[in-house]
Amino acid sequence: MPKIIILDESTACRIAAGEVVERPVSVVKELVENSLDAGADTVTVTLAGGGADLITVVDNGCGISQEDTPLAFHRHATSKIIDAADLGRIETLGFRGEALPSIAAVSNLLIKTRTSHSDEGYVMRFHGGNIAEFGPAGCPVGTSVVITDLFFNTPARRKHLKTTATEGGLIADLIYKLSLTRPRVRFALEQRGREVFRSPGTGTLLDAIAAVYGVKEAELMVPVTAVEGVITVAGYVGKPELNRSTRQQITVSVNGRLVRSTAVNQALDEAYKGLITIGRYPLAILQLQIPPSQIDVNVHPAKTEIKIANEEQLTKLISSTVRGALRQTNLIPAVGPNLINKLSLPATTEPFKLSFDTSDNKRNAANNTGSDRTAHQKLAPEAKMAVPLQAKPECVREAANYIADEANRLSVQDDVKPKNDLLNMESHLPVGNATQAVVGYGYETATSEERSDYRSNEFPHLQVVGQLLNMYIICENESGLYLIDQHAAHEKVLFEKYHERLQNNNPQVQYLLVPVSLNLRTHEKELLREYRQEIEALGFILDDFGRDSLLLRGIPGDSSPGQSERLIAEMVETILEQGKPGGLGVKFALSALLACKAAIKAGEKLATQAMQSLVDQLAVANEPFTCPHGRPTLVSISQRELKVMFKRA
Ligand code: ADP
Ligand code: MG
Repeated sequence: MPKIIILDESTACRIAAGEVVERPVSVVKELVENSLDAGADTVTVTLAGGGADLITVVDNGCGISQEDTPLAFHRHATSKIIDAADLGRIETLGFRGEALPSIAAVSNLLIKTRTSHSDEGYVMRFHGGNIAEFGPAGCPVGTSVVITDLFFNTPARRKHLKTTATEGGLIADLIYKLSLTRPRVRFALEQRGREVFRSPGTGTLLDAIAAVYGVKEAELMVPVTAVEGVITVAGYVGKPELNRSTRQQITVSVNGRLVRSTAVNQALDEAYKGLITIGRYPLAILQLQIPPSQIDVNVHPAKTEIKIANEEQLTKLISSTVRGALRQTNLIPAVGPNLINKLSLPATTEPFKLSFDTSDNKRNAANNTGSDRTAHQKLAPEAKMAVPLQAKPECVREAANYIADEANRLSVQDDVKPKNDLLNMESHLPVGNATQAVVGYGYETATSEERSDYRSNEFPHLQVVGQLLNMYIICENESGLYLIDQHAAHEKVLFEKYHERLQNNNPQVQYLLVPVSLNLRTHEKELLREYRQEIEALGFILDDFGRDSLLLRGIPGDSSPGQSERLIAEMVETILEQGKPGGLGVKFALSALLACKAAIKAGEKLATQAMQSLVDQLAVANEPFTCPHGRPTLVSISQRELKVMFKRA
């Protein structure tokens, strides 16, 4: 064994940095938390290169005195606790004294700071943790920290960063969440010299919600408050119609600290049970106040998870409060003029031709800004009037029709009966390398031999018998009975189709008669631009008019025009989610999202022919036995098992 040594300070800092500063958003989080701890009510964050090239955080907090500034860069140097006993009464966001030395160790860092007691500020510059400059400097009261070239001396970490748009998107997301957690603070986010977000800082949560999500969303939020003993809960929860495909829009704070909480997630699941479908999540902002003695904030390197005593009691309190608030609210979605217009936007298989919409002009328009943009804005309403609304609104489309492939589907809009050719949809694709087994019912009653008759890698040849509970397709063959989950099955068929289109860049487009101007936030537009190739391969057609404007001209053949804007927003969320650890990959996640959206739902009545067509399509899927989320698409009971059940054997 080599001899044990104590690591020098700079090595220790770099090791600590591995825990504290994982990526640019962790740096922003630590610096902004310091600003909040310093009592700032204005915090401005500036980024370049998604934070990898530049992060600036400027606050108007209390500042650091000249003699304390160098100390702040020592490990475990903090003004926030004195001893371990204080860990039980932490009211600040920071307490470990690790952030500044860790960040300084892996970047170039410049800090300028002044307290109100001093006429003069102090500046320090660090290069990879070493002091490069220090001394008095003129600056306003407060602190500004400038980080450049993050991870320049830890290339492995630098290499692992995602793209500028993804890292920047995560930071924007953090700033939105902090704005919701601290409505009294005015947060601003700037990128490339432009302000991309500002929170009002009025101290009213609903104002912050309107700034982050928009006024329309804010109107769909329901207030919640509850007090039980020493615990208080306050905030807003979204009406069920605001549901999302991830939990990203659940913002929870405990004593002003942004946290992830399984307990709160469970409470919300419980409260929304039956109001939104499984796999969908509400929008919620919950601010909890719990005495510091009842929580442990020191259980996670980034302090984003905490331990709460009496978690069960808290879960119950939140779920009953939220449920109660929702019950008292009118939850029937209002069909306002906006909604009607959106739902009745017709779709065609042909591009809608406006004079400038030749592919050449389109290309020019994409490179252009000003004049073309106004042309579009002027033309859009006229175009809407000029085109007769012949196509049937997608929302009343007969379920049977959309099991057919795109070409069929779009031509049978007015025909509620499934077309005959649905029956002839047998594909000649080889059965792929399916590895999952059919989930058998009551295995224990069957011998392994008998099981093997249907428990093969080949998808069985099935004849549809009927529909059960408008949810399951009943099928049979010589081996026995099969039940297919209609939603899961269709989801899988569509998933493979979308995934194939993405892999081979082979989009199926339906052009919108009236292009939709996408009302998105800056980082969302940037993500869309970055993943444009993937998004277009799915069948979306985006027109780019400079920085602020994105116009949606086409959507995938099988999605419904009325939902396209919501769908785009969810796609952005999905892409962002993939930037986090454990993501499945953007192509997989986008295909799964679109498939889930477009698939027939449980509860829809299907014609026999439509069911047979779906079953046949599932049979030729590459992996027919599970839906994209891993749930089974079909279960079976063998003849043998039936015999045993009826005591015939
Ligand atoms: P911690 O926040 O855990 O105390 P940090 O390394 O983040 O550790 O900061 C060290 C100390 O530097 C803090 O305790 C605080 O006294 C001071 N400090 C850091 N940032 C600021 C700021 N923006 N305004 C005022 N003081 C600050
Ligand atoms: Mg700190």
